[in-house]
This record gives sequence, structure tokens and C-alpha cells, in this order.
Amino acid sequence: MCAIASDYPALLIASPKPRAIDCLANRHFPSIQWSCNFATTTAHRTEDQAVNIQAPLQLQLTARPLDGRVSLITGSTSGIGLGIARALAAAGSAVVLNGFGKSEDIAETQARIVSEFGVQVRYSSADMSKAAPIAGMIAMALEVFGRLDILVNNAGIQHVAPLEQFPIEKWDAILAINLSSAFHTTRAALPSMRRNKFGRIINVASAHGLVASPFKAAYVAAKHGIVGLTKVTALEAAEANITCNAICPGYVYTPLVEAQIDGQAQSHGIPREQVIRDVLLAQQPNKRFATVEELGTLSVFLASDAAASITGTALPVDGGWTAH
Ligand code: NAD
Repeated sequence: MCAIASDYPALLIASPKPRAIDCLANRHFPSIQWSCNFATTTAHRTEDQAVNIQAPLQLQLTARPLDGRVSLITGSTSGIGLGIARALAAAGSAVVLNGFGKSEDIAETQARIVSEFGVQVRYSSADMSKAAPIAGMIAMALEVFGRLDILVNNAGIQHVAPLEQFPIEKWDAILAINLSSAFHTTRAALPSMRRNKFGRIINVASAHGLVASPFKAAYVAAKHGIVGLTKVTALEAAEANITCNAICPGYVYTPLVEAQIDGQAQSHGIPREQVIRDVLLAQQPNKRFATVEELGTLSVFLASDAAASITGTALPVDGGWTAH
């Protein structure tokens, strides 16, 4: 039995005895050979020496691949950010939460993460529309934990209106919270990541970072902007073992979306179920919401050693929306 370098048991391959396996790629690129990392380490050492590339980092099957890491997730008192924070904590990372909400609810969220996952949790109330509190939040995380490994830029708001009537203050707020905040956090976090020669930056963009919809001028502009910022960050930080990727969800069932359902039902004069299927999920071919757990699991993967070569991407999680 041998495991291809992966955390996933599904990729275990039966093999009569430990031996190097030439992957399909060899047929096309005969000078490149790949080897399996064997569960039997003595055998794997001998076989790795026999191939002409350096043995890759050996990834372990572990339930907590992020043990010892420190993550900061903006906008994590609710919805997707909270889902990602919980997934990172379940994978072993200490977490810094951020966002608005009632102090008793936030305290309860913190306590629940501590008791469920046994990791340290801190909270910052920094307003993501303002540069100075953002710098203060990153400084606090570095002071408390001495490091920041994983930064998830997730805080975001929405406003829907025709362009000519789009309120200027809404445009400014959306650009500040959905785009500029990621510039400020990344700018403040990079020096420490560079010193540690490790960093994972995950920007929660949207399908609207890849395609547009009417009446969402500020949101679409900000989300396209964050996809661009993701690429620049990836290019500038790549040699320091820092990756930066954008996640582009279609509709995800969160309080933000739930708040829209009844309003849309009233304004269209149709039942909730029809709003979900024919309005919200009209562009989403699989006709289901993505879940915060799916986005959490993807974030854990992007933060893991297995994703070391994935950088500068914009990953759709949209049930096929942007395949149109
Ligand atoms: P949500 O409203 O449930 O959560 C938003 C979070 O951001 C909350 O914790 C809130 O307190 C925080 N926040 C808002 N303004 C803030 C500010 N000024 N400073 C600090 N925190 C602030 O929303 P959600 O649906 O979980 O969305 C999270 C992210 O995912 C957003 O960037 C959104 O654009 C993106 N997204 C959501 C969907 C979806 O269908 N829900 C789809 C694609 C992308």
C-alpha cells in the first residue's frame, strides 16, 4: 500500500510491494520521473534516491494539518468568515476573529471555538473601512501570538442599485471594506510572513470577481479589484513561500443571503422557494447554495503544505455559474 503525496485517504493505491511508480506524465515527459511516498519509510528512501528529482515534501495524513499556525479572518463573526474560522480552528490553527455583532454573541462564539477545537482565540473589533484600526489589529495578532501565518480577507458588504442612483457613500464603503481592507491587512502582515518564510493569504472574492451582474457596480468593481490584488500579491511574495489566492463563491447560504429572500419574495410577489431557485440561483446551474463548510474546507486546503504551489488563482466555488 502506498499513498501519493496527499492528505486524502481516497488516494491510497494498492501496490503488491513498495516500489517507485512512474506516473502517466512520464509517457509524455520521459525525462521527468515521479515517485510515490511510501508508508514504509525505509523503502521510500531507497526508491526516492533512484529517481532523478528531489523527493517532494512528504505530506502526512493528519487530522490537524494546521497545528501551530495562527490565522486571522476578517469579518468572521458571521457567515462565510465564521465558517472559515471554524474550519481553520478544527484543523488546529489559533484564530483571531474580527467583525461586528453583539458582544455576548461574540464571546459565545469565541468560547465555543475554544471548547470544540482546543485552540486559542482572540477577537478584534477593528472596522475594516479604516486603515489605522486594521494596522492595529494585525499588530495585536503579532503581539499576542508572535506570528501570523494565515490571513483571510473576508469582510464584505453589499448594496444593490442602478448605477445612476448608486449612493456615493455606499460606493465608498463597499470599496473600502471589500477591497481596500485587504490591501491594508496584506501590507501589514507581509513583513512578518516574509521573516517566517511562510504565509497563506486567502481573499474571499466572489463569482462577481469574474463576471458582472447589473445593479452591483461597487460590489463587482471591488471583487474584480481583489482578484487583481490577489495576483499582484502572489507575484511579489512567491519566492518567500507565501501564497495568495482568491476564492470566488457563487451564492452561499448566510445571514446576508437569508436577509434578501423575504424582501425579494415581497418585491417580486413570489414564494421564497421561487426566489431561491429563479432569482438567487438563476445563474447557478447546480441550483443549490454553496455552504460555509465547503469554503472552510477549501481554505484549510489552501492554507496547508499541499497547496504550496497554488498561488495567484481565482477559484470559482459557484456550482458552474462562471462556466457559462
Ligand atoms: P455576512 O454578512 O454573514 O458576514 C459579513 C461579515 O463581515 C460579518 O462578520 C460582519 O460583521 C463583517 N463586517 C461587515 N462590515 C465590516 C466592517 N466595516 N469591519 C469589520 N467587519 C465587518 O456575509 P457573508 O455572506 O458571510 O459574506 C462574507 C464575504 O463573502 C463577503 O466578502 C462577501 O462579499 C463574500 N461572498 C458572499 C457570498 C454569499 O452568497 N453569501 C457570495 C460570494 C461572496
